[in-house]
Amino acid sequence: MRGVADEKVLPPPSAASIKDLCVKTLSGFASPADKDKKKSDTHLLADVCAQMQVMPDCESVEKVPIYHFEKLSSKKNSQRILVFSLIHGDETPAGSVGRFWLERLQGIDPRNSWRVIPVLNPDGLKRKTRTNANGVDVNRNFPTKDWDAKAVEYWKKEAKSNPRRFPGPSAGSEPETRCALKHIEEFKPDLIVSIHTPLKVLDFDGPKVKPPKFEYLPWKSLGNYPGSLGRYMWFERKKPVLTMEMKEDLPSSPKPFVELQDIIGFLVSLEFGQEKK
Ligand SMILES: [Zn+2]
Repeated sequence: MRGVADEKVLPPPSAASIKDLCVKTLSGFASPADKDKKKSDTHLLADVCAQMQVMPDCESVEKVPIYHFEKLSSKKNSQRILVFSLIHGDETPAGSVGRFWLERLQGIDPRNSWRVIPVLNPDGLKRKTRTNANGVDVNRNFPTKDWDAKAVEYWKKEAKSNPRRFPGPSAGSEPETRCALKHIEEFKPDLIVSIHTPLKVLDFDGPKVKPPKFEYLPWKSLGNYPGSLGRYMWFERKKPVLTMEMKEDLPSSPKPFVELQDIIGFLVSLEFGQEKK
């Protein structure tokens, strides 16, 4: 049980405490670039973490701040890309991708504006669970129109009541889901990228496009579900979602991670409205 002391409203976390939390957490994610790095680059992560921000009320069930990094492009016609990493806490290679992209974005004026949430489910990360501290699969908790009618029924019948896929007691019941929704509402992304493991595919919920060739991962549609981000964003809001299912092992060089950012740039540059059939 939680004591009374836990219930009082705490002041927002200080920038220094966010930076410390970020460095501590993200340094736990191996980067494929590590071995190529010069000594001076060890400050890169600290520089990135010093710029982390937290939106009001963006915190986990256990009150861990959910921080984000933003790099706005100065270029004309830039698009807005929102990245969610570690929506599932036990998929740590997702954290490595998030870390690599953050460090790369730090030093460039990107073609598009990026906002990256490197750890959306910090309690799951700590517990090494897919679900959050309430045992809810955040990626089944988005308030899709069919949530009330179908999410729990689907979980019982199709997912055989697998606790790893529990959609929660109600749509948007979880603070991590609500934080993601706040980012969507505030940042107004043109494309969302959600990083997962271990299915080794790229799945694009969006208009029909000829996907660019990518040797590291094949393109494959995984479908979408009541309460999933893909159904909420693309099927209900016509904002595309790229789900990246990484391998368990990191690549031996950062090349695939760089190529993925280029593929994302290509996908978001398409005239989606004209591609729709
Ligand atoms: Zn996942």
